[in-house]
Amino acid sequence: MASLPVLVLNSGSSSIKFSVYEAGNGERTKLVEGAVDGIGTDLGKFWIKDANGKKLVDETPALPNRSVAFKLVSDALHSGTFPTPLAIGHRMVSGGPTVQDNQRITPELIDEMESYTAFAPLHTPIAVYIMREALSQFPGTPNFVILDTYFHRTMPEVAKHMPIPSEYAAMGVRRYGAHGISYESIVYQLEPKVPEKLIVAHLGNGASISAILHGQCLDTSMGLTPTGGIISGTRTGDIDPGVLIFILRKFVDAGMTAKEAADQLEIVASKKAGLLGVSELSNDMRDLRDAINAGNAKARLAVDKFNWTLVKWIGSFVAELGGLDMLVFTGGIGENDIAARGEICAALGALGIIVDPAKNNIRGEATISADHSPVTVRVIPPAEDLIIVNHVVRLLSE
Ligand code: ADP
Repeated sequence: MASLPVLVLNSGSSSIKFSVYEAGNGERTKLVEGAVDGIGTDLGKFWIKDANGKKLVDETPALPNRSVAFKLVSDALHSGTFPTPLAIGHRMVSGGPTVQDNQRITPELIDEMESYTAFAPLHTPIAVYIMREALSQFPGTPNFVILDTYFHRTMPEVAKHMPIPSEYAAMGVRRYGAHGISYESIVYQLEPKVPEKLIVAHLGNGASISAILHGQCLDTSMGLTPTGGIISGTRTGDIDPGVLIFILRKFVDAGMTAKEAADQLEIVASKKAGLLGVSELSNDMRDLRDAINAGNAKARLAVDKFNWTLVKWIGSFVAELGGLDMLVFTGGIGENDIAARGEICAALGALGIIVDPAKNNIRGEATISADHSPVTVRVIPPAEDLIIVNHVVRLLSE
């Protein structure tokens, strides 16, 4: 396939991140990357950098809504100053039970994925909005959906299945996992020597962990939605269902309708809980570290809880894998929070995970295990955009 510019779109609740690669058979050259951040505010940020990090656009526009935000990206890419994309890849957290394969986007496919918004309620509305905008503003350009759930499709039924009445399982309620594009990118970066028994901890604002056997997902912490699994910045992670029922009843007792109570419960579980809920301070690990240094006990508890759940999940994944060859940390916390890596691994010595404090004293890519550690411990930044481009090129060639 002749090389062509491929646009990667990765939208969050208040931002649209994008990059353009020149890609073809074997060729992957990043041309530009950028973001529109602060959607819903008067003072947003819009920037574009070249591959060397030189800022080509650096503006602070008013961003009243998503439409204005996407128009900035679209206008820039149509201006002739930057490469106009000839194919577009969209990151999508979950397409629901009927959309499991990465594929070309049609208006009907968008409607189908939107009908499963409950499977990724924080992510799907913005993603489908951007897909519709991209189809209309880049007419004739093939658009592809690249799913985070795709990497997790290899989980065995015992890992996917949830202990619920079968009528709900028939509606598609099961473990799908998330962060799959990040996991795929770690395996990709480890090729051709992917360790047989691998655990990857993706610790960002959302945190999850996966057990990977022979390069394929065996189990992962996030469930039907990204709210499950490990405690995240604002999400509960796995929790006794009785807690949710308790809170739901409180809302009903206060006179809310069923819909209001369900909406409020969703806000509590996914936006007010996790590190933010426990610390009553912040969902950002940097703020919590500052607060811990100033003696804040709630911040200490929140971070201890984070580390504790990771230790539990790593321990159970070692059991599922039948041992462990390598542990990889990735994501904003995994790459930068030296203390978290040290604290988590300090509790895992009995499993052969031994970190060298001097090697761990680093941000970004490194091997941080001690020379005598039976398990290799590494820090590897994800390369999600590259994986999206790889899928787009593959799908274009089919
Ligand atoms: P997202 O899930 O939104 O992509 P990131 O992967 O960027 O998030 O991770 C964001 C998290 O990384 C935040 O909790 C942030 O505090 C944390 N982080 C970033 N830099 C540092 C740092 N230097 N020390 C500790 N935590 C950091």
